Amino acid sequence: MTQFSIQFLGTGNAWSKPPANYNTNAIVRACGHAWLLDCGILCPLALHARNIPIQSIDGAFITHLHGDHALGLEEIFFRSFFACQRKIGLWLPSAFSREHSQIEGTDLWENCLRASMETLVHQDGKTKITTLHDYADIHVVNPGEPFDLLGLPCETFPVIHTAQKPAFGIFLGSDAAYTSDCTFSKKRIEMLLERNISVIFHEVYFSAPYPHSVHTSIDELAELPPDVRKMIVLMHYADETTADDFARARKLGFRIASPGMTFSF
Ligand SMILES: [Zn+2]
Ligand SMILES: [Zn+2]
Repeated sequence: MTQFSIQFLGTGNAWSKPPANYNTNAIVRACGHAWLLDCGILCPLALHARNIPIQSIDGAFITHLHGDHALGLEEIFFRSFFACQRKIGLWLPSAFSREHSQIEGTDLWENCLRASMETLVHQDGKTKITTLHDYADIHVVNPGEPFDLLGLPCETFPVIHTAQKPAFGIFLGSDAAYTSDCTFSKKRIEMLLERNISVIFHEVYFSAPYPHSVHTSIDELAELPPDVRKMIVLMHYADETTADDFARARKLGFRIASPGMTFSF
């Protein structure tokens, strides 16, 4: 079993604002390496607030292309490339590479980063235009295919989040699963339990359910059996979540992640 830890940089949602909270992004540390599990627009700010230097980040995995999960990559890549003269590893679900997926509109470079990050650089006496490959060592990954992420065995699984846009959860080692953003699925929970993991990091919202939500409500999770609820750590909740909301969740057996919290395996 590979030992690792996951430290939350933030546990908020897309609209969270410091100092209340930051986007649900985390640092995974294993085998002497540190990598970002999602890198949203507030991620560079969260790293700065915790005095975590960008030079200490060796890689990133991105679950989906919403701003609170992917748009911090611009600063991380720019600073790594220009200030630190280094690439970091990028573990990229194939759905976010048009070259591999043939899907239009979900390419990390073309649809999220290129407009800002394509730039002229001078290297080895030549002038060239940058691509994603200049900023990152890219490792394309597919659901159900185990891969090694800087020493930690990982595997992605698809989740349903926004209509017709790919999104993925990830198994971390043999002990934990991380759903990132998703709608509720009892089948998915059953699939995760079949892997004999001990912890599920699951997104949640506490506000009144609204039609066609792309997230998971506490009421849906509350329907799970008590022994399953005990395995779940809640994340990705709104800044407006109240003490009463958290108290109710704890009474149901859930644990709640908060910014800076570290879970060790
Ligand atoms: Zn999100
Ligand atoms: Zn999202």
